[in-house]
Amino acid sequence: MKAIAVYPGRPGSIHLTDLKAPSVNDVPEGKGVLARILQVGVDATDREINNGEYGAAPAGSDVLVLGHESFGQVEAVGANVTSLQPGDYVVYMVRRPGEGFYDSIGYQDMTTSDTYFERGISLRHGYLTERVVDHEDYAIRVPQGIRHVGVLLEPTSVAEKAIRQAYEIQRRLGIWKPQRAVVLGAGPLGLIATMALRVRGLQVVTWALPQKPNRNAELVDAIGARYVSADDMTLEQLAKEGNIDLIIEATGYSPLVFEAMEFLGRNGVLVLTGIAGGDRQADMVHADHILQSCVLGNKVVVGSVNAARTDFERGVADLVMAESLWPGWLSRLLTHRVDGLDNYAEMIRLLTEARDAIKIWVDVSANGSYA
Ligand code: BGC
Ligand code: ZN
Repeated sequence: MKAIAVYPGRPGSIHLTDLKAPSVNDVPEGKGVLARILQVGVDATDREINNGEYGAAPAGSDVLVLGHESFGQVEAVGANVTSLQPGDYVVYMVRRPGEGFYDSIGYQDMTTSDTYFERGISLRHGYLTERVVDHEDYAIRVPQGIRHVGVLLEPTSVAEKAIRQAYEIQRRLGIWKPQRAVVLGAGPLGLIATMALRVRGLQVVTWALPQKPNRNAELVDAIGARYVSADDMTLEQLAKEGNIDLIIEATGYSPLVFEAMEFLGRNGVLVLTGIAGGDRQADMVHADHILQSCVLGNKVVVGSVNAARTDFERGVADLVMAESLWPGWLSRLLTHRVDGLDNYAEMIRLLTEARDAIKIWVDVSANGSYA
C-alpha cells in the first residue's frame, strides 16, 4: 500500500513509498484495531521533518512515514477489543511508551527519557498511508456526529493537555476559578485552545500579530472570544484590564515568553506549547520585573508537550460541545484539502507557501484504490 515518507535528515526527501499492509493480528493478545485511514492533518512538524530538521526513522528502516494527525474508520478488531468495532471512526494517539517510569504507567507524554516514540515523527511510522493497525489502548473512538472534524482531534488533544496542566497545577490553590485567559497566537493551536477555553466558559482574549479584519479574528469573535492584534494592544495593556489567570502560549516565538511571564496575573499559570526550533536569544528581557512579579504573584510557568489518552477523550467531548454550541465553526478550520496521497508535493507546497492556511489535511480516501 502507498505511504508518504521521507529520509529523515535529508531535506526535501518527501516521496511515495510502498508499505506492507498491516493485519489486525500484528498486535498481540487480540488487541489490534485496524483502520482504513480517511484523513490526515499536517502541520509545521511535518514541514520541519521534510526540511531535515526533525524526525527519525524506525529501527531497521531508512524512511519515516509521515503523518501524526490521524482519522480513520475501523475495518477489523482483535478478539479482545471492547471499545471499538468495525465501522466506528477512530483517531490513533501519537506517542508510544519508551523507557522510564512514566512510560511504564501510560504517561509517555511525560517521559523523562531523551528518546521518545511518536508515530509519524520519531522512530515510528505515521498515518499518511492507506491502512494502520495499533493497540486498542492508543485508539480513540470518534462519534459519528463529529466525523467531519475528527481529523482535528490530535491538535485538540495538545490544547487539552495544556489546559489540564493548568488545572492540575492550580489544585495548589484549593479552589481555582479562572475568569480571564489569554491565548497567544491564532494559528491552529491558538484557535483550538480558544475554543476549548470558551467551552469551559472562560473569557478569552486571543492575541496575535495580524490586524483586524482577518479570517482568524472572525473565527475567534464567532465563539465569543475577543481577538486583539498586537498592533492594537500590548500584553501590558491587556493585563491592566484585569488579572490574567491563564496564558496559553501557542506562537513558538520565544521572546514572548518573558513578556507573558511579566504580565501573567497573580496566582496565574502560563502554559508553553509552541516549539521554537532555532537558537534565538532574547534581549531587552525585563529580568528584575519578571522575577519580582513571579514571586510576588505566586506564578507558575509550565511546558506541555503531546497528550495523554485522557486529553484525547476530553478533546472528543469538547469537539462535540463546540459543534453543538457553534455549528459549522470547526469545519472552517479545515481550510486546505489535499487530494489523496499521490499529491504529497502539493501538501508540502501548501505547508510552505499557504500562509493563510489553518489546517491543511490530506483526503486519503480520495483517488485512492484501497486494494
Ligand atoms: C505533535 C505532538 C508532538 C510534538 C513533538 C507536535 O506537532 O502534535 O503530538 O508531541 O509535535 O514531536
Ligand atoms: Zn502536530
